[in-house]
Amino acid sequence: LHVQGDLAPGGAVAPTLDQSRYLTQVMRLKAGDELLVFNGRDGEWRVSVAEVLKKGVILRAEEQTRPQAYGPDLELIVAVVKKARVETIVEKAAELGAKRVRLVLTHRTNADRLRLDRLDAIAEEAAEQTGRLDVPAVDDPVKLDALLDGWEDGRRLMFCDETGGAPAITALTPFSPFPLWGGSSARSGDGVGAAEGALDHQALPTRSRPDGLDHPPHEGEGEGRWAILIGPEGGFSPEEGERLRSLPFTTAVSLGPRILRADTAAIAAMTLWQAAVGD
Ligand code: SAM
Repeated sequence: LHVQGDLAPGGAVAPTLDQSRYLTQVMRLKAGDELLVFNGRDGEWRVSVAEVLKKGVILRAEEQTRPQAYGPDLELIVAVVKKARVETIVEKAAELGAKRVRLVLTHRTNADRLRLDRLDAIAEEAAEQTGRLDVPAVDDPVKLDALLDGWEDGRRLMFCDETGGAPAITALTPFSPFPLWGGSSARSGDGVGAAEGALDHQALPTRSRPDGLDHPPHEGEGEGRWAILIGPEGGFSPEEGERLRSLPFTTAVSLGPRILRADTAAIAAMTLWQAAVGD
């Protein structure tokens, strides 16, 4: 459960009224029962139900079960599309470890009215479900040009462009800490045949889910700062595409030959990025 306030040994933790209702009426917790909470700064804590009051529940922090950990320093920048799709994008960004979701208005954005409080709640719920220890921020929509004008030094931008770009994995390979091509191509001369030099799985590095996502706080991890940009239903305008391609910090990538909806593109791009660069 994501809670506000500090987490320290023996400290009291006061969930919100809604959360208290969920704990007592849905999870039917009683005094003495235990659960895990996080506040985005102090890691994960085991807490016990100290008191069930009319107006809420008081929890007591018992012990830290996981140190504070963060996912990759990845920002997902998406043009505002239909509300339901933006909600899906926010949920998947939280699951796939994005640190922040930035909404942008582009030349062809049809700005659906978005409720940021609802998007924050979706991000929080997805963070709780996925076991991360921080909740991605969802920023108010800003103009793409303004965002590019104030671009953060050192952050790379993977610009997803259906009109053309390097295959995402190829574009990301130079930045990958992993040997991406562990074996020869699976296609032999006569089309798709038996894989020559099939992958020797023993030789490949494994990337299992480390216990407790044991990431030290990534603050300031220079080379790892990335952003992924996804355009609106109508795509980027030629002027936008031109400007984006001219910038020194962008890599224009293709997500394949088919045109993906913005939410599909966001999920595909984050997954490819994670496979190549992040974790
Ligand atoms: N311009 C397209 C059209 O008119 O049908 C649709 C744009 S698509 C719905 C929304 C965004 O998803 C694009 O701006 C791009 O960022 C991303 N996208 C979709 N398919 C892609 C692909 N095959 N490669 C790279 N990016 C893609």
